[in-house]
Amino acid sequence: MFALMILTLTVLVNIANSIKKYKIVNMKCPRCGCLLDKVIESRPGKDGMSIRRRRECTSCGCRFTSYERVELKPIIVVKKNGKHQSFDINKVEHGIRVCTDKINIDPDALQRTLINIENRITDLAGAKRTVTSAMIGEETLKELYKLNPVAYVRFAAVYRAFDDVGQFISEIEKIAKESKDES
Ligand SMILES: [Zn+2]
Repeated sequence: MFALMILTLTVLVNIANSIKKYKIVNMKCPRCGCLLDKVIESRPGKDGMSIRRRRECTSCGCRFTSYERVELKPIIVVKKNGKHQSFDINKVEHGIRVCTDKINIDPDALQRTLINIENRITDLAGAKRTVTSAMIGEETLKELYKLNPVAYVRFAAVYRAFDDVGQFISEIEKIAKESKDES
């Protein structure tokens, strides 16, 4: 009897802990900065490696999206100078934000762009979990082209020192053709 009580108690404690563990954490509202929101929808990503959550700020009602991804072994980036560093999508995001400053870009579309870039980099890194910085630049350019042409041109201008205008234009045409083929 006593053993049964202990067992029941252990089970209850475990359940309580798992509820605590799986509680979805609030996120800061991008509009008013309030730290209380409710999740109105959770949807798994196509690959089963991510979850997209629609959230609503309890203070101002602003709706926004957050993404949760499975974290794998870090991807190593080999830079032009031969140095290694771990891949960080936040750096790509920062680069894009700089280029999209004053351009009206839908935050959800930007998040999707970042997820696409991250997925492509993960694919390219493969089992070796290694990519070059050039690969990241190329994939970012491809996705930016789909997101916003102005952002693409700005990013391209920053990312690459083009030798001449002809090279720049042929690059745009190449990417335009590729994204047409993909869609
Ligand atoms: Zn708010």
